Amino acid sequence: KTWVQCGISMKILSSLKKHGYEKPTPIQAQAIPAIMNGRDLIGIAKTGSGKTIAFLLPMFRHIMDQRSLEEGEGPIAVIMTPTRELALQITKECKKFSKTLGFRVVCVYGGTGISEQIAELKRGAEIIVCTPGRMIDMLAIFIYLFYNIRPDRQTVMFSATFPRAMEALARRILNKPIEVQV
Ligand code: AMP
Repeated sequence: KTWVQCGISMKILSSLKKHGYEKPTPIQAQAIPAIMNGRDLIGIAKTGSGKTIAFLLPMFRHIMDQRSLEEGEGPIAVIMTPTRELALQITKECKKFSKTLGFRVVCVYGGTGISEQIAELKRGAEIIVCTPGRMIDMLAIFIYLFYNIRPDRQTVMFSATFPRAMEALARRILNKPIEVQV
């Protein structure tokens, strides 16, 4: 499959080429069209298989679609990840594209001062990459600014493994997910 066959727009295509991403990896080829169709999804693929781009590209498309509708109403996409290292890594990957697209990314994680992260959020962002603990602290502070996440949200989960406990979580928060495994 090519990027175009995955429904990737020209605007994103040029950034992909610039960073040497010539064609989708197997997890990207399977997951991107399903996510672009609005489906919730569970994606299982090992480390280094390109999971990050698999959820970032549909997310960019969604933000482009939503932004004109929701101008000034706060973040459109939230990426939640278990560790600070992963949050920073995803933020780095995200920034390869977000600048060209005019999106602002804020990385929110614990173990460091909260005030600079709050200041960044106040300046406005379309995308938040976060770890759960710090996100909860932020929500407590920003509770009057954040709307509850909309019930018709799209949720996608990616992991290298899919243990029982995660299956239970997925069942609670995802809506009829497609499962993709490579
Ligand atoms: P990930 O599994 O998301 O951590 O990605 C692993 C590495 O593969 C990262 O360094 C990405 O920049 C790179 N990568 C992701 N997608 C592609 C692609 N389609 N073509 C080439 N490299 C990629």
